[in-house]
Amino acid sequence: MIRRNKGFANLTAGYLFPEINRRRREYLAAHPDAKIISLGIGNTTEPLPKYIAKAMADYSMALATPEGYSGYGDEQGLTELREKIAKVFYPGLVETEEVFISDGAKCDIARIQTLFGADVKIAVQDPAYPVYVDGSVITGAAGANNGNGYEGVTYMPCTPENNFFPDLSKVEPNSLIYFCSPNNPTGAVSTKEELKKLVDFANANGCIIIFDAAYREFIRDENLPKTIFEIEGARTCAIEINSYSKPAGFTGVRLGWSVVPKELCFEDGTPVIKDWNRVMTTLFNGASNVVQNGGLACMDAEGIKAMKSVIDYYLENAKVLKATFEGENFKKAGAVVYFTGNSPYLWVKFPGRKSWDVFDAILDKCHVVTTPGSGFGPAGESFVRISAFGHKEAVIEACERLKKFEF
Ligand SMILES: *Cc1c(COP(=O)(O)O)cnc(C)c1O
Repeated sequence: MIRRNKGFANLTAGYLFPEINRRRREYLAAHPDAKIISLGIGNTTEPLPKYIAKAMADYSMALATPEGYSGYGDEQGLTELREKIAKVFYPGLVETEEVFISDGAKCDIARIQTLFGADVKIAVQDPAYPVYVDGSVITGAAGANNGNGYEGVTYMPCTPENNFFPDLSKVEPNSLIYFCSPNNPTGAVSTKEELKKLVDFANANGCIIIFDAAYREFIRDENLPKTIFEIEGARTCAIEINSYSKPAGFTGVRLGWSVVPKELCFEDGTPVIKDWNRVMTTLFNGASNVVQNGGLACMDAEGIKAMKSVIDYYLENAKVLKATFEGENFKKAGAVVYFTGNSPYLWVKFPGRKSWDVFDAILDKCHVVTTPGSGFGPAGESFVRISAFGHKEAVIEACERLKKFEF
């Protein structure tokens, strides 16, 4: 018989979202009349801007004509889209050939892990988006979970005490550092000065940063950096991963991109972009041509305006939620809200309580689903993440109920 990949056995059971769904189902079974509202999952809810949907529909219909038909395209993506991404999102910072189009950021993160193999050391922010570590466990770069986390992984706590920017001194030389800003789940955005520290550290210690900028379009404070490539020195130490999922509502449509600068090299001098091109052409066969044309429409003046208005909608939800969690009843419950207005997530601390206990209490008393912070890493204990993705009416109804919350 074929031996099971050790990595799967090493993964500890109970992925966060299945457990949330289990508790929700169980609660509903006992309380069938409860009208549960979810502020839990980081999924978009608002319809696609018509302009963008129409571009995809038009392209689709053209595929049914001899002139409009196309088969396989370049695995790296449509040149026109790569150009537009370089020009619109990285003006003067990135070249067209350094942009690779994909089917989404999570998929790119998984493919990145094949690029570095099983021998690389890992450092992650704690709390963090789960795929960085779980994917590393599957590829073997991270080992078994010894109760304090996975072997081979350096956890970098990001807490209110350090203003959500980690102490880098514990990161081992030659590590792959996963870094997400604006952060999921904390919502924190690192400043230019902070990212400069990160870049300088990586360059001085032979590290490569995988910079996940999936929420860049939520940044409203113009002083905050939207890409790692705004930071001097990043071209020799960073890869950026991004996606249309959150800004354009492409969570189901699927489109993302990565940026690998030509200067970035492995220890033996091989440019990382050479191997990344090999990964993308060998293990991936290009993003859907229909969807890439939707991506092109996102980058027109009209598309950019439409994306901005959807994000504004979610940020309005976030403001309403912030006011609610800063209400008297939550103050009495000891809650402290962390939200800077530059992400769709509120990160709320309930000192002295367990995340799952807060989750259960809010579900029971308000019929509202949140996300327990401990599911994102040990430093997330005592926090819950509140997502602003949702229809406005549902968010307002949730807030009405939350105003009556008490322990
Ligand atoms: C949602 C999310 C992604 C998802 O990307 P897809 O492009 O939908 O695969 C990536 N990173 C973070 C931090 C996210 O929250």
